[in-house]
Amino acid sequence: MADRLSRERRSENMRRIRSKGTVPELMVRRIVHAAGFRFRLHAPNLPGRPDLVFPRLHKVVFVHGCFWHQHKRCREGRIPGSRRDYWEPKLTRNVERDKAHKAALHRLGWEVMTVWECQLKNSEKIERKILNFLGR
Ligand SMILES: [Zn+2]
Repeated sequence: MADRLSRERRSENMRRIRSKGTVPELMVRRIVHAAGFRFRLHAPNLPGRPDLVFPRLHKVVFVHGCFWHQHKRCREGRIPGSRRDYWEPKLTRNVERDKAHKAALHRLGWEVMTVWECQLKNSEKIERKILNFLGR
C-alpha cells in the first residue's frame, strides 16, 4: 500500500514537472522578448502567480500545460479513463482555481491571456496571438 502510494506520488510529481515544464514558458518568453516587451516573471503578489507580467500594460500571461489545467477540446486535456476517481476531483480543482485567479485578476484591472502548451506547436500562429494581445 505504501509502495503504491509513493508510486502514485512519484508519477504525479512527474506529470506536474512536465506540465510546468519550462520549455513552453521559455518559448513564450523568447517570443515576447524578441518583440521588445519588458516583463516580470511569476509575480508572487498577483492571484495565481502569472508566468509573465507586463506591469505597464497591465496584462498578464499564463502558460498552461494542457493536461494539468485541462485544456478544453484538446487531446491532452482529457481526464484519464483509469483512476478517474483520483484524477477528476484533482483536475477539476485546478480548473476552478484557474477560473478564480482569472476573475480576481480581472477585478484588479488586469487583462489575462492563457497560452496553452499545444498552441506552441504552431509558433507563428501563437506568436501573432500573443503580440496581438500585447497590442502590437
Ligand atoms: Zn491543449
